[in-house]
Amino acid sequence: MNIEEFKSKIRNIPDFPKPGIQFKDITTALKDPECLRWMKDSIVKIYRGRGITQVVGLESRGFIIAPAVAIELGAGFVPERKPGKLPADVISVAYNKEYGTDTMQIHRDALSADDVVLIHDDLLATGGTVAAAIKLVKSTGVKKVYVNFLIELEDLHGRDLIDSDVEISSLIKL
Ligand code: AMP
Repeated sequence: MNIEEFKSKIRNIPDFPKPGIQFKDITTALKDPECLRWMKDSIVKIYRGRGITQVVGLESRGFIIAPAVAIELGAGFVPERKPGKLPADVISVAYNKEYGTDTMQIHRDALSADDVVLIHDDLLATGGTVAAAIKLVKSTGVKKVYVNFLIELEDLHGRDLIDSDVEISSLIKL
């Protein structure tokens, strides 16, 4: 598996979930065993040795690869979820998406000042989702924050919304 092969595994669905959106469907990459392993290995390669203690996955497609990456890095996994899903005391942030607005939460005790955090999501579009996630994670006082995506939609300039002290990686740019 290489970057070009991975690109070929991403299925484009025009006008989903609403007209004008070119939805990048990763299920076609996930169902390929070699590709599934390649995605996990590629992320682990970037972050090994950086002292990551927690991988924060963004609901819901960020939950798929993040725990596998966390296990290999010897880190924990923290779910960032939509409102009403987490059972204990939460902290929240509201944000704009490419299609609509939303709120995300983590448990108040999920992260601490000793943590080095890798935030993972499947795709960077306008950047609103990850910018909000960074704000939420930083509000817990963690030491350092990294962000990773499987796919970055370059034309939408989502990077511009990401704080300059946060290192960004994406496996492919479309
Ligand atoms: P944004 O906040 O605009 O960067 O949107 C990123 C979030 O929305 C990620 O969680 C993606 O899963 C989802 N998303 C946005 N646009 C797309 C797209 N064109 N294809 C697939 N997922 C998308």
